[in-house]
Amino acid sequence: KTPFSDHNIVHFFERQFSKSGIDFKQIEQWLTIPPRFTTLRVNTSRKNVDEAIEQLKVIFANKCRRLSNTHYSISKHPIISDLIIIEVEGGFKCREVLPEGKEVIVDLRCGQSVLRGAEIYAAGVVGAPNSLKSDDKVAVFVDIDGKCLRGWKRRYEGRKVFLGNGVSFVSRRDLFSDCPNKGLAIELTDCLYPCPSLYGSKGALFYPQNLPSALCVHVLNPQPGEFVLDMCAAPGGKATHIATLMKGKGQLIAIDKSEARVSVMRDNFEKLGVEEGVKILSFDATLLLNESSENIPLKKCSFDKILVDAPCSGLGQRPQLTRDITIKALQSYPVTQKLLLKVAERLLKPGGILVYSTCSFTLHENEEVVDYILTNCPNLELKPQYPHLGGTGLKGDHKLTTEQLNLLQRFTNFDSYSVNDDTIGFFIAKFEKKLA
Ligand code: SAM
Repeated sequence: KTPFSDHNIVHFFERQFSKSGIDFKQIEQWLTIPPRFTTLRVNTSRKNVDEAIEQLKVIFANKCRRLSNTHYSISKHPIISDLIIIEVEGGFKCREVLPEGKEVIVDLRCGQSVLRGAEIYAAGVVGAPNSLKSDDKVAVFVDIDGKCLRGWKRRYEGRKVFLGNGVSFVSRRDLFSDCPNKGLAIELTDCLYPCPSLYGSKGALFYPQNLPSALCVHVLNPQPGEFVLDMCAAPGGKATHIATLMKGKGQLIAIDKSEARVSVMRDNFEKLGVEEGVKILSFDATLLLNESSENIPLKKCSFDKILVDAPCSGLGQRPQLTRDITIKALQSYPVTQKLLLKVAERLLKPGGILVYSTCSFTLHENEEVVDYILTNCPNLELKPQYPHLGGTGLKGDHKLTTEQLNLLQRFTNFDSYSVNDDTIGFFIAKFEKKLA
């Protein structure tokens, strides 16, 4: 029930959250469980949301159902106009499943995604017995310590968590030969948590997106005809959303430091068909106003809207079965976050809007960064967010007032099971640059 193996980190957070009257143990437990709602953003440049829901219902009815005795309801979010909610009928409970069949081990990344409904692809499998054949019944475990080496054949005695039972599509040879199978490896028929599989529902019409991520772009509220910058854009979840809302009019510049992720982002723009008016660049956004950026066509005070969906610790991701992070590593993120925001402030027009977001629950990547920016960029002021569906900012080691905290959106509401609360951990701040 705690993802953190390092007691120093736990004490560090306990102290931090006690200042806001929060028992950190509740956050720890919340982190280990997947959110009970699955959300998909509709690519409204292709279809309206009602038609998309009908299409999704057909996909759900026709495709091979992954979990026995599980049915899902599909509806439109009452406020976020382009978001679809998929919910387990009859309530979301951890299921009592016992391991049955041959033991298969998957890596942590695969295991955590599986708990949110993802498929098990061959690349995620690290261990399987010699006798594994296609159509075998399997019991799937996730290796918690990352010590199960790819190709493991014996029973794995390291720390592992049981995920569920399923049927194998592949033999051991398919998984680990010199030319391994790259497709689906296992279909789960019973899983610890009943999140829906989105197999067959991705593609051009739907983008799987957590509620706060979709919300964050609505808070930015990009309009057709505007000049918009996404400074940390890859793989493009929010940037493709911005482009969709801009309807091909105006210009969106989507930048990311990582070339590999930029290449995935290009594919996403192409797949969703929202490339019109979009320029994609691979560049370190902290250097955008340095001499090294002379080939990058950005001018100071030129953007109507800027999104800084900053690189962060990712500590809000759910589920997190285990997480090794040091205090030193944790303290490195705000350095880049503050630099990015300072560059964003200079690129923003007077009267322009800057949205800052992270998928982390820590105060020093969120409230403390906001406090720093308000102190160091007196041109920026916090503004109310629409829609405001999350909680407010938390008290801590910063100088933000209650009025300012109320303008922030924080998603760490571990004791509410509503669609707007039971999400990944997330944080959003909206600033406006004062008119000169
Ligand atoms: N906005 C993206 C989306 O919705 O799909 C997710 C962005 S992810 C939270 C943060 C991104 O920041 C990563 O893709 C990372 O490569 C990028 N990044 C890290 N440092 C950066 C920098 N100095 N300049 C630009 N991008 C950076």
